[in-house]
Amino acid sequence: MVDSLQQTPAAGAGHAEDVERFDAIIIGAGVTGLYSLYRMRELGFSVRAFEHGSGVGGTWFWNRYPGCRFDSESYTYGYSFSEELLQEWDWKEHYSGQPENERYLNYVADKFDLRRHIQLNSHVVSCVFDEDESCWEIHLEDGQRARGQYLITSVGILSAGFIPDFEGIDSFKGKWCHTVRWPKEGMDLAGKRVGVIGTGATGVQLIPEIVKEVAHLTVFQRTANFCAPLRNSPIDDDEQREIKASYPEIFKKCMKTAGSFVHEFDPRSAMEVSPEERLEQYERLWDNPGFGKWLSNFHDIMVPGEANEDYAEFFRNKIRERVNDPVIAEMLVPKDHMFGSKRLPCESGYYEVYNRDNVLLVDVREAPIERITPKGVKTRDAEYELDVIIFATGFDAVTGSLNLLDIHGEGGHTLKDKYAGGPRAYMGIASAGFPNLFTINAASVGNFVRSAEPLVDWVSEAMCYVRDNNFTRITATLEAENAWVDHVNKDGAKILRTQANSWFVGANIPGKARVLLTNPDTAPAMRAKRAEVAANGYEGFLLQ
Ligand code: NAP
Repeated sequence: MVDSLQQTPAAGAGHAEDVERFDAIIIGAGVTGLYSLYRMRELGFSVRAFEHGSGVGGTWFWNRYPGCRFDSESYTYGYSFSEELLQEWDWKEHYSGQPENERYLNYVADKFDLRRHIQLNSHVVSCVFDEDESCWEIHLEDGQRARGQYLITSVGILSAGFIPDFEGIDSFKGKWCHTVRWPKEGMDLAGKRVGVIGTGATGVQLIPEIVKEVAHLTVFQRTANFCAPLRNSPIDDDEQREIKASYPEIFKKCMKTAGSFVHEFDPRSAMEVSPEERLEQYERLWDNPGFGKWLSNFHDIMVPGEANEDYAEFFRNKIRERVNDPVIAEMLVPKDHMFGSKRLPCESGYYEVYNRDNVLLVDVREAPIERITPKGVKTRDAEYELDVIIFATGFDAVTGSLNLLDIHGEGGHTLKDKYAGGPRAYMGIASAGFPNLFTINAASVGNFVRSAEPLVDWVSEAMCYVRDNNFTRITATLEAENAWVDHVNKDGAKILRTQANSWFVGANIPGKARVLLTNPDTAPAMRAKRAEVAANGYEGFLLQ
């Protein structure tokens, strides 16, 4: 992992008297952390957010690699809680880039005066539940401690970067980095021989940008993906006015869809319409920007079968049309997983990169990487000499960022041990034996802000319920947790997301248990479930 576990202070070490106390400690000042801070403070809780980075923004602070941008429409990604914010902020592009997204989150932090509750450069290395005082104590790398009745982990699902355990990385004489730790000052790639390992959503955003400046690019691909043109463009003044006037409708639409995106599936079956009508829809969606190609299509595209395969072949042919050399085109055509079984990477000129003379595509499934050498990358078949290696090799998703926090619950048991066979959390947010801990990072998926806002609202209201009823602890029961894990495993097996080897099921990390790491339900179903739990007096939770 990019951040290895640091040495952990002994549980319960030191005296509690000299430690600052809060109602809630939030770890992370990214999209969910900032909103948690705002919301909990508004409800009268004393709150402090501890952020590892030197700035706010989370994902949009760390992922500074060239090409990094939204794949959901900018105006669907912003916070909805403040009409003033919605009217003040101009999204400049339909799919806004990292620098602008980071500016937005800084703007939010300033506008709502959140900075005074945020401690930056604060690396949390362990979190220990104090059973006598019913509170959490967190330990920072520099020895600082803080206590809070609640511990809110807003550390993101994709933040613990993963670098495969290649031998010899330290022997490499050139420069290397993982995309999640792209240096603020940038990487000097001009005129260099650069290698990129990984062709997921990150790799396909990065590659078309850096190819413009490198002398030579070698791309090491293990699995070819279905990637779709993003078709980003600026937002002009007229559209800006239109967007600002229609936020309520935009958000209403997002709240109805499975992943909280603005795109809605076509209720028709692909196989029930004529071949001409089917193709007309495929082509129209293809020409449109964003995720419509995936999420506005015939509904049965998203289940294994004839429709899925028909659309997959349409996609494959689009790739073949864009790549001049038929041999290279076939290397880029995905053949080992179903369309939609992974999140669809959106790209801007990705396939055309392979028409350039200074780009080499290396199939590392056929000839795997054996080691990193002082000169570059050695596969089974050859050694590739490089000045820079970029690891676009993804993340230890969901549980990776929680494991780095070294969380100890009742009886000193660790969350890491509890999650060894996969996450065990009621509704994805609360685990038996870990009172007053809400793992909100683990339950926000899809269009991130749209799913995070209602989740944070729910957790904040649960905290009010505990306060108003003079309880001190809220803990998921083992029965509720077990039933939820059974549901995730049983219903998760039916969805497309569990069918491919991807981070969704931990298949990208050697040795990680293969289970669905997120909830299998649609966003409206999750919101309904949480509402029902609250309406029934926090059913499935033990209140003490
Ligand atoms: P990823 O999808 O996990 O891709 C990692 C890449 O590294 C894959 O191509 C993988 O190959 C390759 N890899 C890993 N280990 C390797 C090894 N030992 N040898 C060779 N290749 C290896 O990670 P990601 O691209 O960072 O994307 C992760 C998620 O982040 C996305 O699914 C998306 O949810 C999010 N994301 C979103 C955006 C956006 O547009 N908003 C942008 C970037 C990322 P295999 O496929 O064979 O495992």
